[in-house]
Amino acid sequence: MHFTEFALNKPILKAIFEKNYDTPTDVQKETIPLVLAKKDVVVSAQTGTGKTAAFALPILQLLFHQQDASSNVKHIRALVISPTRELAVQIEEEFKDYGKYTHLKSTCVFGGTSIEAQKNILRKGVDILIATPGRLLDLRKQEVINFDKVEVLVLDEADLMLDMGFIDDVQKIERMCPETKQTLMISATMPAKVVQLARTILTEPERVEITPSVAAAKSVNQLLYYVPKPDKIELCLQLLRKEIEGNILIFRRTKNGVEKLEQTLLKNNFKAESLHGDKTQSARQKALNSFKNGEVNILIATDVASRGIDIEDLDAVINFDLPNVPETYIHRIGRTGRAGKTGTSHSFCAADEKSYVTSIQKLIKKSIPVVEDHPYVLDPKAKPQVHKKKGSKHKSGRKSAASKKNKKRWY
Ligand code: AMP
Repeated sequence: MHFTEFALNKPILKAIFEKNYDTPTDVQKETIPLVLAKKDVVVSAQTGTGKTAAFALPILQLLFHQQDASSNVKHIRALVISPTRELAVQIEEEFKDYGKYTHLKSTCVFGGTSIEAQKNILRKGVDILIATPGRLLDLRKQEVINFDKVEVLVLDEADLMLDMGFIDDVQKIERMCPETKQTLMISATMPAKVVQLARTILTEPERVEITPSVAAAKSVNQLLYYVPKPDKIELCLQLLRKEIEGNILIFRRTKNGVEKLEQTLLKNNFKAESLHGDKTQSARQKALNSFKNGEVNILIATDVASRGIDIEDLDAVINFDLPNVPETYIHRIGRTGRAGKTGTSHSFCAADEKSYVTSIQKLIKKSIPVVEDHPYVLDPKAKPQVHKKKGSKHKSGRKSAASKKNKKRWY
C-alpha cells in the first residue's frame, strides 16, 4: 500500500514524499481512513508505531479541504492535548513537517516557559494547537483563546494523561469544545479508566488496536542478563565498553537511580545525559537536545520522563531495572527497532525482579534469550531456558575474576 491510496491532497503527499516514508505503518493504514471519514476513533498504539502521523495527516487533510482561503482570520480548528511538554513539541514538529505545503498554521504551548510569548503567537491565530492541559486552561482562562471553532480534538497518550492526574482538566477541555467535534483518543495501554473516559467523551468510536507484543517481537533483539543487584553497575559499564555501540537509552525506575548512574558513567568517561521529573524544563530539553544532536550517546531516564519522546536511530535500550508493569517493558524496548530498523534490548534481572520476567514473557508470548557468557552471571544451570547469545564480542568463553568470585547462588 502507498500513501497515494489515501484521499490526501497533493501538498500533503509532497511533504510525506520528502520524509522518505515508503509505506504507511499498520496504525496509519487503519486510522487514516477512519479519521478522514470523520469518525471518533480510539487507537491503542505505542510511540514508534507512527501514531502521530496516523492522526496528523488526516487532520491536515480535513482542515486543508475545508479551508476558507479568503479568510485571514484563523481559529483553532484542531486541538491536540499531550501529557508532556516534550511530546507536545514533537507532535508540533510533525504537523509542521507534513503541513509545510499547506497554509495551515500550527503551534504548541506548554507550562514552564513564558506565557507572554505564547500569547503573542496565539493572538495572531493558529489552525492547529498542540498543548499540555494546564497551560491550555490558563490561556483559556485569560481569554487568549477559545475552543468554539474546534472541529477535531485529539487526546494523545491518554493513559499517561490519566496517570499524571489530568482527568479533570481533560474533561473540562472537552466540555469547552463544540459538541459536534470529532474526537480521537490515542493510548498505549487500555486500562479501565481510559475505557471509561472514552465511553463518556467519544461518540460511537471506531477501534484501532495495534498489538504491541507483535510489533516489539518483530524488530527488537531482546536479551536478558541475570545479575546480582550490586553487580548491575559493573555489568552496565562492561557492556558499554565492549558490547553496545551507538545511541543508547538506559531506563531506571527511580530519579535517584538515574542520577547515581549518570554520575558513575560520567566518572568512567562516558558521554551521558539524564531525564527525570525533578529536572527543570530547560534542563530536560538541554539533555534531550544533546542526545538528539549526538553530543552524548547515552541517555538515562525514568519511564515517565521518557514516555512519548521520539528519539530516532536508537541502537539499544538497557533496562537497568526491570519495570514492574509488563506493558512498560514493551514501551521501553519499543524505543529501539523503530520504523523498520533493528535494535537490541538488554534487560538486567536481579533476584527480586524474577517475577517481572515471568509477567513480561507471558505478555510478549515468548521467552527472552538469556545471556550466560557475561562476567557477573552466577549459576546459569539453575536458570530455565538458557540460550547462548549469538554474535557476542566475548569469544574467549573464559569466566572473569568477578565471575569466579561470585560462585554462590544469588536467587
Ligand atoms: P510515532 O509513533 O508517531 O512517535 O512515530 C515514530 C517515528 O516513525 C517518527 O519519527 C516518524 O517520523 C516515523 N514514521 C511515521 N510514519 C512513518 C512511515 N510510514 N514510514 C517510516 N517512518 C515513519
